[in-house]
Amino acid sequence: MSVLQDNIAKATAYMAHFRDTGVLNHIDGQSVPAASGQTFETITPTDLSVLATVTRGGAEDIDRAVAAAKAAFPEWSRTPGAERRKILIKVAEAIEARAEEIAFTECMDTGQALRFMSKAAIRGAANFRYFADQAPDAENGEVTRTPTQMNTTSRRPIGPVGVITPWNTPFMLSTWKIAPALASGCTVVHKPAEFSPMTAKLLVEIAESAGLPKGVLNVVNGFGEEVGKRLTEHPDIKAIAFVGESRTGSMIMAQGAATLKRVHFELGGKNPVIVFDDADLDRAVDAATFMIYSLNGERCTSSSRLLVQDTIYDEVCARVADVAKRIKVGHPLDPDTVVGPLIHPEHESKVLSYFDKAEEEGATIAAGGEKVGDDGCYVAPTLFTKANNDMAISQEEIFGPVLTAIPFKDEDDALRIANDVDYGLAAYLWTNDLNRAMRMTDELQAGMMWVNSENIRHLPTPFGGVKASGIGRDGGDWSFDFYMETVNVSFPRATHKIPKLGG
Ligand code: NAD
Repeated sequence: MSVLQDNIAKATAYMAHFRDTGVLNHIDGQSVPAASGQTFETITPTDLSVLATVTRGGAEDIDRAVAAAKAAFPEWSRTPGAERRKILIKVAEAIEARAEEIAFTECMDTGQALRFMSKAAIRGAANFRYFADQAPDAENGEVTRTPTQMNTTSRRPIGPVGVITPWNTPFMLSTWKIAPALASGCTVVHKPAEFSPMTAKLLVEIAESAGLPKGVLNVVNGFGEEVGKRLTEHPDIKAIAFVGESRTGSMIMAQGAATLKRVHFELGGKNPVIVFDDADLDRAVDAATFMIYSLNGERCTSSSRLLVQDTIYDEVCARVADVAKRIKVGHPLDPDTVVGPLIHPEHESKVLSYFDKAEEEGATIAAGGEKVGDDGCYVAPTLFTKANNDMAISQEEIFGPVLTAIPFKDEDDALRIANDVDYGLAAYLWTNDLNRAMRMTDELQAGMMWVNSENIRHLPTPFGGVKASGIGRDGGDWSFDFYMETVNVSFPRATHKIPKLGG
């Protein structure tokens, strides 16, 4: 048996229980179907075959899950931080113990290549460990004193929260939200994306087997406009952590307005990687191609616009095209695969539509620009050259292994092009001139920038975007600030004079 056949057999065995029972909701410690009994199917983008039926929740299911999260909140929020830490560390250990099952399931459900997904489960565990370690001190604030007052600030978990996640790297992304929410003392109702629901169910089962009390984490599957909408409108849900498209974010903000929902949005991106002619080109090309062609380019921080100084534009484009043409596209469980199938035929059509658009707009397809094979959602790693920043391929988030290369003249030109998009999530800058790097990073409109590097996540640092790319920051203490309310209590330090009214 080849390694691929062996891996497919293992994945089939790992997912057998989903085939037998379907992907059920998980409410108050129980696996349950929808109140309506309705289901939908999740397919694998490898060949579009059905992996399992999935519970299609509705408003009634959200109401039950929120009731469970509300009932579990008083005890979980009062559980000492050190105790929550112990439980969440056990969750991290349990994730590590089942990392292969999570990775194989994720590969089949999303089409992401195993070489990246094998690390995704481990990173999910790292998220739990990191936020678990902050739990004991999360409530602590500061004391400030004046001659007459002593003020003490502290934080309290905000209440049951909703977490709504997208289909790209769903396991890792979910833990990024769920781990700090639980560490803060919040209880959670999670609504996973309809295209990739499987690993959310694994996570809640793993967490409960590791000791997370029932009702603290609940999962309701279904469609955004049904269960997602109800979750964002529910009066007992105090905050919504959302990762997804910018236009969905604005819908959620409107839906949550009546109940004054606190929102945290991680939205789309059209991130520039800017290469000056003094840069280390070998490293710049490696980083730029890694950031667009890894994870199928279905990545919010992908470097989807390559801005290259005109003096080296042809050379850099030729080198990137060469890498793109040599990348192995194939089954996600083949250990050699770099680019697997895109998540779903609907998304594949969207990505393919940009190949026609690029030609209509006058850009050149220097690599890829076509579907690969007849089965599944396989698309060739693509490079558009001779593009300008006004084109749709430069402005819109394509969310596939598709890179648009735009030439620039000098620093001002690079800045103008880089900032001339609705988004502002990440930017990557390649130069060996320190002063230029300082000038550029002062002016670039992005929430996160990497100089002479690909995206390397360090959990204590803030993660998030400006403009249409988001509201709020994840990571470090920023996560706790979102899932907790800060309160101040003032004590008198002396018998001070109180104004006397009325005589
Ligand atoms: P999406 O916005 O279509 O869906 C995300 C989630 O929102 C899904 O669970 C969906 O069911 C739900 N949803 C849809 N309509 C809703 C509504 N009216 N009310 C409540 N929930 C609703 O996004 P997607 O296509 O699943 O994911 C891709 C997008 O996510 C891209 O734009 C990508 O850039 C973005 N993303 C951003 C980050 C980041 O950190 N900034 C990270 C990953 C992905």
